[in-house]
Amino acid sequence: KLYNQVQDLKGTIRVYCRVRPNFSGQSNSLSCVDHIDDTTITVIAPTKNGKEGRKSFTFNKIFGPSATQAEVFSDTQPLIRSVLDGFNVCIFAYGQTGSGKTHTMSGPKELTEEGLGVNYRALGDLFELSKQRKETISYEISVQMLEIYNEQVKDLLAADGTLLCSLTPLTLDIRNSSQNGINVPDAQLVRVSATSDVINLMNLGQKNRTVFSTAMNDRSSRSHSCLTVHVQGKDVTSGNIIHGSMHLVDLAGSERVDKSEVTGDRLKEAQHINKSLAALGDVIASLASKSSHVPYRNSKLTQLLQDSLGGQAKTLMFVHIAPEYEAHGETLSTLKFAERVA
Ligand code: ADP
Ligand code: MG
Repeated sequence: KLYNQVQDLKGTIRVYCRVRPNFSGQSNSLSCVDHIDDTTITVIAPTKNGKEGRKSFTFNKIFGPSATQAEVFSDTQPLIRSVLDGFNVCIFAYGQTGSGKTHTMSGPKELTEEGLGVNYRALGDLFELSKQRKETISYEISVQMLEIYNEQVKDLLAADGTLLCSLTPLTLDIRNSSQNGINVPDAQLVRVSATSDVINLMNLGQKNRTVFSTAMNDRSSRSHSCLTVHVQGKDVTSGNIIHGSMHLVDLAGSERVDKSEVTGDRLKEAQHINKSLAALGDVIASLASKSSHVPYRNSKLTQLLQDSLGGQAKTLMFVHIAPEYEAHGETLSTLKFAERVA
């Protein structure tokens, strides 16, 4: 059954929409989300003449405010498991700052067992399944943790303390080799075998990210962070080797900044974010429409993920919705982005 599910997903792009709880304390009637069911979300979309319109969007799945981390993960599991069979997988979290991207991928700040996000659960599942298969296939699982900020790739796991305190952390190159495909050879690659290893690494990566941030304000919402999982499986009898990889990407906030209000560094950041999210949208949309040219080269993000977008690879995008009434403009533009790639 699992195998069939996996086959069904091959080469397709799935879009899941997650609506977080409303934090404004307002009643439901003051939300910009009018209605949700299993696959359709209806939002408030003011029309040109100032009247309050409604617009509906359909995706593979909608998770409402009460959906648990475990529920969200269970619909993601077949995709993740296919990495052990040699598939490349890419999972994105898209949405404006504060909409719940980090909550879905990592979890809340005070991490509890139930709160664990997709990243931890995904790796936990890979460890579990690889143990079950150990009589036939011996697996090695390693991770990298990268950040893309202003079109530069940085290593969030760099062990060199001096490097981490520097204001300009080392920038890494993305290479494409016939042997290894797309890779970042100079980034730390760390073997992991238990969820606790992953928690420790993610904590280190998060700490490093904060170090980068204090120099230039909160940077985490203005950079993409990517946890890459490399899996190598060796068939115990034949010695044949398979490779699979998975990118788990917490994207920069998608909110549009008012160009008339920002200048200098902030403007540059905004331009880089717009450019890379637009490039990601273009790549996924051209894959979805089976276009012959896929414009991977337009951003560092799409270059890095090239092997995991298109071809046999499987892509899942979580689009996050902040349901407060004031968020209706961003909510609508988030849903339009998602509709284009679905
Ligand atoms: P983003 O990463 O998109 O900026 P966060 O994941 O940091 O947003 O979410 C903003 C706040 O909302 C956090 O305090 C987070 O824990 C909380 N939050 C987000 N999604 C949910 C959810 N589904 N249930 C409960 N709290 C959530
Ligand atoms: Mg975040």
